[in-house]
Amino acid sequence: MSDLSIDFSKNLSEENTILTFTEEELAGVPEDFLKSLEKNEDGKLKVSLKYPHYFPCMKKARNPETRKKLETAFNSRCLKPNTAILEELVELRSQKADILGFPTHAAFVLDMRMAKDPEKVRTFLVDLAQKLRPLQEQEVKVYLEYKKEECDKYGYEYDGKIHYWDLRYYMTMTEERQYAVDSNLLKEYFPMEVVTTGLLDIYRELLDLKFTQVKDVEVWHPEVTLYSVVDRESSNLLGYFYLDLYPREGKYGHAACFGLQPGCIQPDGKRQITVAAMVANFTKPTEDKPALLTHDEVETYFHEFGHVMHQICAQSEFALFSGTSVERDFVEAPSQMLENWCWEKEPLQRMSKHYKTGEAFPDHLLDKPIKSRIANAGMFNLRQILLGMFDQTIHTQKKVDTAKLFSEISQEYLGFPSTEGTNMSASFGHLAGGYDAQYYGYMWSEVFCMDMFYTRFKKEGIMSPKFGGDYRRYILQPGGSIDAADMLRNFLGRDPTPEAFLISKGLNPNA
Ligand SMILES: [Zn+2]
Repeated sequence: MSDLSIDFSKNLSEENTILTFTEEELAGVPEDFLKSLEKNEDGKLKVSLKYPHYFPCMKKARNPETRKKLETAFNSRCLKPNTAILEELVELRSQKADILGFPTHAAFVLDMRMAKDPEKVRTFLVDLAQKLRPLQEQEVKVYLEYKKEECDKYGYEYDGKIHYWDLRYYMTMTEERQYAVDSNLLKEYFPMEVVTTGLLDIYRELLDLKFTQVKDVEVWHPEVTLYSVVDRESSNLLGYFYLDLYPREGKYGHAACFGLQPGCIQPDGKRQITVAAMVANFTKPTEDKPALLTHDEVETYFHEFGHVMHQICAQSEFALFSGTSVERDFVEAPSQMLENWCWEKEPLQRMSKHYKTGEAFPDHLLDKPIKSRIANAGMFNLRQILLGMFDQTIHTQKKVDTAKLFSEISQEYLGFPSTEGTNMSASFGHLAGGYDAQYYGYMWSEVFCMDMFYTRFKKEGIMSPKFGGDYRRYILQPGGSIDAADMLRNFLGRDPTPEAFLISKGLNPNA
């Protein structure tokens, strides 16, 4: 099983498909992005399936054929080998659960999680889907209006349906039209260096830490940087972290934090320092521009760095419980909580500066993206539920046809099937990367993340060092040495409730 999981991830990292398009086929995609693309011998532009290539095209390419080609290729990544691996893993996991006396793999995994059993997870996802459905229906109506308009304007055939390859395009259009978010203009205020400095500064202040870049040290690639972290109060060295932020061939293609050495107590009673690495695939600098991040990328950066801090601040006695070694359906909560800083004025201003003029974000530019947080909330969250439900379903079965099942669940939750010939689950890294039967954890922990944020920080100051200190003490430091439910009670002063979560999605919790 371990070998299969490694092969699954390796296939994904080594995936290297290139599609070629004419400029005309990529109409709608920003000029500077097109300029950054390499050309092949006959002058066509080369588009890879790595995030900094794929997403800008899916968001802005107006030609549905182009998007269909890209989406089909994207959701066919590693189709053959990884479908076989995943389906074999499902069988082996089921057998293992059987040997251990559990009815299903999901039941085995959840036994040690906050949720405890598959029924509870199902109920959680189904309830939430019901609440979100009216939002999503409204959103789809709008997508279809836009689609009709686009088809009339550019002479494409209108089929009255939303497909996978339409999704990001019309979601982006919704943000732009309903919230007047101009993501290309926003990017100009998020040069990588400014974001990094601002981000480190916010974490420093909030958690009372000191970061220092360590130069002249051996790293695995010239783009990688290393920082030391010191506790400001005691001046103790807590650990080191690496930042590896840009895509390159053969590199892990998603964003993640990897623990390299756990912070825990050594036999001599002293604390072993933590070492962690943050890996991401952000937009690279071009010849005439520094790396300019989209707001999504800034949020991802903030999120992954939250995991880094969870590792670095670890104070548990045993390595087994150090840092992010918490219940898997809680592990996202601490860093999701910190994502909220990317949706508030003050921290955003600290992380931004126009790359040419050095000007700060004008208020009017900032209000809109902040408001746009609930744009597409129905569709976005139902997609998360689809992924969670798929993961739960395959892990309550002995044998599964993943492509067929994914398409069926997609139909049920999003209202449309997978694109012909694709199987998204062949590139669903989480399923072989330790999130099996636990993908729901993203939504599950968001409930706690929103409660923590609204109850304490949002009410009384998001840069409050007092709450930041409590956060470090009660949530980050203990790792898995305390049950998540108890950590939450310690921080909140009561049991968590889902109200804040529903409000954050634009729903009325009392409805
Ligand atoms: Zn995460």
